[in-house]
Amino acid sequence: MNARKAKTFTADDYRLTRFLGKSKEINPRFAIDLIAETPPIAAKDHWISCDGGGGPLGHPKVFINLDDPGEYGTCGYCGLRFYKEGHQPHH
Ligand SMILES: [Zn+2]
Repeated sequence: MNARKAKTFTADDYRLTRFLGKSKEINPRFAIDLIAETPPIAAKDHWISCDGGGGPLGHPKVFINLDDPGEYGTCGYCGLRFYKEGHQPHH
């Protein structure tokens, strides 16, 4: 039995042209940008608790104060933003 040879292509082989004219594709959307694109969440009360959704993807529950209407309350663990309903900051 013959030993299996590694496949080689000649320089003009069409199988080598599949990436021609294209740059390598990487995912430019880093997690912090995804968080920034996540719409802030309205809370009915002047505080809200966040546990990151709970379960293995969550984090310890933290309470976030939303008394300042000019700022989002941001979870220090997962970065989700909250605001008091009817008092969404304009930025
Ligand atoms: Zn959180």
